[in-house]
Amino acid sequence: MYSKEEMRKTIERHGIRLTPQRTAIVDALSGFPGIFSVGDLQRHLAKSNPDLGRATLFRAIDLFVRLGVLEKVHREAGEDGYTVGVTGHHHHLICRICGDIRHIDFCPIQKDIDDLVLQEGFSDSVHRFEIEGVCAICREKSLRKKKKA
Ligand SMILES: [Zn+2]
Ligand SMILES: [Zn+2]
Ligand SMILES: [Zn+2]
Repeated sequence: MYSKEEMRKTIERHGIRLTPQRTAIVDALSGFPGIFSVGDLQRHLAKSNPDLGRATLFRAIDLFVRLGVLEKVHREAGEDGYTVGVTGHHHHLICRICGDIRHIDFCPIQKDIDDLVLQEGFSDSVHRFEIEGVCAICREKSLRKKKKA
């Protein structure tokens, strides 16, 4: 996962200026180890940066996604979210209750995809998929609740 320092370096390496607002956003990102929405980030930043508008925030997030510093995460239920990026090809395992996210750094289907792509006469393929489930902590919590009821 990108650290604050790595995020800054990646942004600057692309010739993008770290404005005070972008710096504030980068700083805020370390407060979100899991998945967050634009609203979450905006609420988090509201106190320290009351002037930061939603449009500026959206533009910065778009930019960070393009640089790979952030990743967009599709959720089966509810709105799509974002998470701090990880380099290299990987997949996501997401808890649908708490939004905990694991970056799985191997590809279980690369070979099948390569075969399929070749068979269809395609090249230069990319793919992504996400797996949703219930994490161990949330499962434990729900079991305890059931026992009490
Ligand atoms: Zn969970
Ligand atoms: Zn990831
Ligand atoms: Zn893969």
